[in-house]
Amino acid sequence: MRPAAIFPGCLVTARFPEYERSARTVLTALGYQLENLDETVCCGSNVWESVDGEQWLPAAVNLARAEQQGVNLITLCGSCTNMLTRARQALEQEQIKVQVNQQLRSIGLQYQNGTNVGHVTEVMWHRLEKLREICTFPSKQPVWPTYPCQLRKPEGISDIEDTAAPHIMADILRAVGAHVVQHSAQTDCCGATMALHDPEMAYTMARDKLAASAADELLVTACGNCQLALSRWQPLTTKERPDLRREVSFITDVVAQAIDGAVIPDIKGHQLPKKSILPSASPEECLKCGSCKTVCPAEQKGIASIPSLQMGEEGNPWACTACLECTTSCPQGIDVYQNGVRMRLDREPQSNYQKAYQNILLHGTVFPLADLREFRQEEGLPPLRFGNLTKIKDKKPIT
Ligand code: SF4
Ligand code: SF4
Repeated sequence: MRPAAIFPGCLVTARFPEYERSARTVLTALGYQLENLDETVCCGSNVWESVDGEQWLPAAVNLARAEQQGVNLITLCGSCTNMLTRARQALEQEQIKVQVNQQLRSIGLQYQNGTNVGHVTEVMWHRLEKLREICTFPSKQPVWPTYPCQLRKPEGISDIEDTAAPHIMADILRAVGAHVVQHSAQTDCCGATMALHDPEMAYTMARDKLAASAADELLVTACGNCQLALSRWQPLTTKERPDLRREVSFITDVVAQAIDGAVIPDIKGHQLPKKSILPSASPEECLKCGSCKTVCPAEQKGIASIPSLQMGEEGNPWACTACLECTTSCPQGIDVYQNGVRMRLDREPQSNYQKAYQNILLHGTVFPLADLREFRQEEGLPPLRFGNLTKIKDKKPIT
């Protein structure tokens, strides 16, 4: 079995070192041989593909570095998982691979489809039996898992998760002995990525999700964005509603607390989805049925977004959380979200997106990070370096 490296992404690296730390604890207890990535860049999710037509480039840099190091990638965020998985499928197309490899060559990299990507919940799910053996949940507090959108949408992104009725997180939490409660809102989008375009709307979406839970419940997340929206923003989202304050934990924190101390020697590798998740139907095949519009959280809040544009109406392609509900709901198999993102490329970039894009290009992260060495040492984490993308030759000029 190939060793794996945790791909923490920029949000978790900067804000949630505890998530990476508990993921390391759990994966090590499950027998994974974890290596450190020599260098990484932001996966580019949402930001890069909204501003730059070369949408696979940052993800390809990460896949190629992992391949060079001989490791698979274990992700912690839904968006990193989605972006890296989509890029991996796109790079199986010879034309895209040749073009991307031409650019990668200028920074000493090549990619030959040799890197697997799996989210930490998928990895844990493959070891449910072992989790049952080694874990005892230390509390009776009810837990409710909130599922990251991009980990289960569009259909096929994961070969074990169910898009409409996700179960992986509940299965893991039950395996460690926790009392799992279910709410329909567990699949609602947390709204975090809407913050780049409309922070107030993002806070409203996060508050709605908190309001769906009971005061004694522990909300369990599996994505830095969900944790940001549901936990870190609570001072803002619950300012007028202090009764909505909730405890929120990462799933690996919950599992790590329940581990009895055993170490498991053998492991089963995580697999990539077999089904294609790349766009299939053309936007012209739209039936104007309105299904995408009905499910879109932005449209539900009265903001004309990508679905309106898809249906030939006025809309704002930036007013979107990247929840992928529109793509998932389309009976024609149109990738509504991706088409909307392409529409962004013809428009003036939103300043927050443009700033974040420039940061990825120049610093490798969506926001500039101070020297990580000391920070990671204090947090008990191995060194990690973010590289930049400025040395890539034949890169389109920045717009
Ligand atoms: S446009 Fe699609 S991806 Fe964006 S918020 Fe609406 S449903 Fe989600
Ligand atoms: S769900 Fe699909 S077919 Fe229906 S309006 Fe939206 S894009 Fe068109």
